[in-house]
Amino acid sequence: MRKPIIAGNWKMHKTASEAVDFINQFKGLMGNTDVEVALCVPFTQLWAVKEALKGSSIKIGAQNMHYEDKGPFTGEISAAMLKEIGIDYCIIGHSERRQYFGETDETINKKLHSAFKNDIVPILCVGESLEEREGSKTEEVVRRQVNADLKGLDAEQVSQLIIAYEPIWAIGTGKTATPEQANETIALIREIIKEMFNDEISEKIRIQYGGSVKPENASDIMNQEDIDGALVGGASLKPKDFIEIVNF
Ligand code: 13P
Repeated sequence: MRKPIIAGNWKMHKTASEAVDFINQFKGLMGNTDVEVALCVPFTQLWAVKEALKGSSIKIGAQNMHYEDKGPFTGEISAAMLKEIGIDYCIIGHSERRQYFGETDETINKKLHSAFKNDIVPILCVGESLEEREGSKTEEVVRRQVNADLKGLDAEQVSQLIIAYEPIWAIGTGKTATPEQANETIALIREIIKEMFNDEISEKIRIQYGGSVKPENASDIMNQEDIDGALVGGASLKPKDFIEIVNF
């Protein structure tokens, strides 16, 4: 049985003090849940959020990392640095990084290797553009990304990995993939994992959906058979919206 994971991706939002206010409110709203909850926050907030989360089961993630442990890479942060301050997860290969910051499947693959080496669990994002969906290329794009991004990883690593299927056309647009569309592509990703590794790993790996997840659509999405969670952007910025999604 896969434990669902609902993660917030705050992107470039909130100052550290605003982040701590959020955590204090959110902790007050969170009751017992069978869902794993994580927040992926900007680098400057990691330390403060980690402190504010003490004593709670909420996990913490970063949104990017470099693939080297250290070196002359001005402005970058390594997995080793994240590990030292107790970070659990790191989003890798988000479409905004692929689109605006030159992230490629090759760098993403190196980052995945580095994350595992440093005991950080990656949340790998994959997904097609609107043009690719309309050109019936979803399967081809997702297959190419998963094959290239997971190159050289072993089965044990992949069983811990989290994949987020985020169709680019559904991110921040208010246009959600229908639960069936999301489930169909996530089932395909599971099938690709089975081809690359084996049945057991494909049954173990958790695959989230991301793209305009809101309190109103969370339960329809989460109730799909192959969907094991959500990666939530805009709606994770408000404690009341995010708790409704967690309590889908
Ligand atoms: P929205 O939920 O704002 O559409 O963002 C989705 C996303 O990119 C999460 O990583």
